[in-house]
Amino acid sequence: MLIVGGGMTGVSLLRELAARDIDALLLERRHLAAGASGRNAGFLLEGTAANYAAAVRQHGRAVAREVWAFTAENHARLAEALAGAAGHRRLGAYTLAASAEEELELEAAASLMQEDGFPAEYRAGRLLNPRDGELDPAAAVDALAQGGQVIEGCEVTSLGAGGVETSRGDLQAATVVLATNAYTPQLLAAAPIRPVRAQMLATAPAGELLVDRPTYSDWGYRYWRQLADGRLLLGGFRNLAPEEEVGYVEEPSDRIQNHLERHLQAMGVEAPVTHRWAGIMGFTPDSLPLVGPVPGRSGLFVCGGYTGHGLGFAFNAARRLVGLLLDGQEPPSWMAAARLAWRTPG
Ligand SMILES: Cc1cc2nc3c(=O)[nH]c(=O)nc-3n(C[C@H](O)[C@H](O)[C@H](O)COP(=O)(O)OP(=O)(O)OC[C@H]3O[C@@H](n4cnc5c(N)ncnc54)[C@H](O)[C@@H]3O)c2cc1C
Repeated sequence: MLIVGGGMTGVSLLRELAARDIDALLLERRHLAAGASGRNAGFLLEGTAANYAAAVRQHGRAVAREVWAFTAENHARLAEALAGAAGHRRLGAYTLAASAEEELELEAAASLMQEDGFPAEYRAGRLLNPRDGELDPAAAVDALAQGGQVIEGCEVTSLGAGGVETSRGDLQAATVVLATNAYTPQLLAAAPIRPVRAQMLATAPAGELLVDRPTYSDWGYRYWRQLADGRLLLGGFRNLAPEEEVGYVEEPSDRIQNHLERHLQAMGVEAPVTHRWAGIMGFTPDSLPLVGPVPGRSGLFVCGGYTGHGLGFAFNAARRLVGLLLDGQEPPSWMAAARLAWRTPG
């Protein structure tokens, strides 16, 4: 079996297949975690980017409940696999209201979560999800890849029947899984995934505790957390330049970085900025992942489209795809790849 892409999804597939004694090879065009998996904020959250009340409105209560339960299971299984490695800590996370409207929404979200059996505490514009956590995402990718067969620096250039063409020659395989998330349309133009850029910065160690948990705010458009050594990671603000924050350019822009710096000032952070970067997320039209066979393409499967929340979904999504491939167990219909229209390239 061939896996294309060496991020969180690819290595989760590799690990799950190894646990089932299936021979698999992962091809990565750059190096492990070169994509979004090595560039993200390391928030390990339950649910989608939207809060629970918004998810109930968008998907219906039954699906929202299933999605949250799926991501809770993802966290539990990933934590077990990491066994304390990669800086994983289940220390809870905040969602902080940035407006009166968001305050009302978070209060409603907390009530709905409690009714549906998900722990949530709301107080004065701040929702605490005590089960959320954080990790070092690149270290997590490395840990999950241990013992698996990986070829780095090998780009898949086209997908054929029964195999792939790569920058290092052709490879035959009855089953090929695209773990290429945002980059999937570069190989398969019909994929209903849109590349969306996200930007971050990191400061030098601040001499004080600025925030005690990963914090999400402004409907998920701003996020920050402080590392154990005092460095602050801050990201977001793409909603302030939505027309620019699309496509495959993995470079930060002055416009968004200026917004991030102003946020640092508003937080009273004096430590200098040491790093700035950008990565590409894969968005789907309904914000839910795509897991399963690619319609009309025998032997070709996809696992991705996490709409900015891949750490919350990928490990369990990979497990469900392997369940489909080996046991014929269908993943939940809300993540089935065939639920969305795959465009015919014009
Ligand atoms: C700045 C930023 C912050 C984020 N913060 C969070 C967060 O805090 N929490 C969270 O849950 N999510 C977050 N995300 C989203 C999260 O990073 C992604 O959802 C997740 O990493 C997706 O993992 P993946 O393995 O599916 O894709 P990727 O990590 O993007 O991996 C895809 C891989 O495929 C490779 N590839 C592509 N095309 C080919 C080809 N033709 N041949 C071979 N290899 C190929 C790429 O090089 C890449 O390594 C953030 C994303 C960004 C950019």
